[in-house]
Amino acid sequence: MWSRLREVFARELVVLVDPTNPQHARRRKQLTVAVGTVFTLGMAAAMGVAPRNAYIDPQAPRVLQPLRMPDLRAQLDQLTETDSSIYVRQDRMQRGDTIATVLRRLGVDDPDAQSFILKNPTARGLFNLNPGQALQAEIDDSNLLVSLQANLGGDAAASRELVIERVAPKTEGGDYTYKARIQTVDNDVHYEMASGAIDAAGFFKSMDAANVPDEIVEQMISIFSGVIDFHHDIARGDRFRIIYEAGFRDGSFVRNGRVVAVELINRNALHQALWYAPEDGEPGAYYTFDGRSMKRPFLRSPVEFSRVSSGFGGRDHPLHHRWAQHKGVDFAAPQGTKVFASGDGTVEFVGQQNGYGNIIVLQHAGGYSTYYAHLSGFSGVRQGQHVNQGQVIGFVGSTGWATGPHLHYEFRFNDVPQNPLTITLMEAPTLTGKSRAQFLTYTSAMLSRINMLRTYNVLTASN
Ligand SMILES: [Zn+2]
Repeated sequence: MWSRLREVFARELVVLVDPTNPQHARRRKQLTVAVGTVFTLGMAAAMGVAPRNAYIDPQAPRVLQPLRMPDLRAQLDQLTETDSSIYVRQDRMQRGDTIATVLRRLGVDDPDAQSFILKNPTARGLFNLNPGQALQAEIDDSNLLVSLQANLGGDAAASRELVIERVAPKTEGGDYTYKARIQTVDNDVHYEMASGAIDAAGFFKSMDAANVPDEIVEQMISIFSGVIDFHHDIARGDRFRIIYEAGFRDGSFVRNGRVVAVELINRNALHQALWYAPEDGEPGAYYTFDGRSMKRPFLRSPVEFSRVSSGFGGRDHPLHHRWAQHKGVDFAAPQGTKVFASGDGTVEFVGQQNGYGNIIVLQHAGGYSTYYAHLSGFSGVRQGQHVNQGQVIGFVGSTGWATGPHLHYEFRFNDVPQNPLTITLMEAPTLTGKSRAQFLTYTSAMLSRINMLRTYNVLTASN
């Protein structure tokens, strides 16, 4: 966190001291606004002193004495003489905001601008902003709008911005007009790193402790879904390292992007994955560090692993791992938890069967079939329909012979039940030829990042 702040500060300093930098004028204006804020806070602090004294000693005279502060504003105005009459204000959308209330908070008092925003289809994009989204207005001495900029979101790599600008009158004494446009701007993509260990508090709490954002945790679970059953396999003492993209715009965080590299040591087995998009335009995917795809024909767990479903029933739940008794594996999970097709296939049966309750049977290539029983309901899949791996097919329940909500999952080969916890993982083919050479070049850079993170861990651990 501090290193990121330092980085932002360092970059902003470069902008402020370098007049040739394209952000220079804008930054100086923003600094003017910031100093204005400090003034206001200083005044408030000065006023705050008197009532507190009066509270301690009711006889004390109430004194309001503004603090004497250096007149930075005048100095800054001298610095920014060319645009001293333009003020920049930033704010965020709040719940229940209208265009009028937002403009008022931004210090804009401009009926013409307001009616333009209400009428112009592009400018009306402001109505779609969610609470918390940032806006920035430039206003002149008369509180008229010069420009308005709003971040409409985007991904980690780029932001979409709505820009409304005042256009100078074409003739002397004519009226100002406005125009609105949406522009795509590249974000600065940073690589964030996190690492930690799974402790007694469980997987999600351990991820929180390492400050791994939820959307990154979800990606991590998905990346390893072919090789790790998070419900049954994750154990105390497992360790992880993760590197992911985070997009920043003008030094402000926009959103997190993709996990680019992740390592998980699960019960002393090392699992590593890298995002790699071949240069020939093939879609990207996750690969092991030696170039094998992370994708597998079957998920290790067909039940959504979430904060709610993880640890449901506890480690000593009676339904745990009873493969030997009934040729299937049980996943204890709250009623309604999503059940996924563990592989691409066709729906062979959807309905009720004695004992199984609501059940779906999927037929897969190569003589494999999977059974999903005790469901509380189906997601609308029909017999004969094709389903993709990871597609929601139903929801956990306790129909049939079940004492509590859980998924009974069977994995069969030529109709003979196999233990899905111990079946050998079907390895995906490895990259070959030119793709492999490209991949190895790419991975050497990413490996050095991961190794840097490892060194960092060792240093902190020795403190
Ligand atoms: Zn069962």
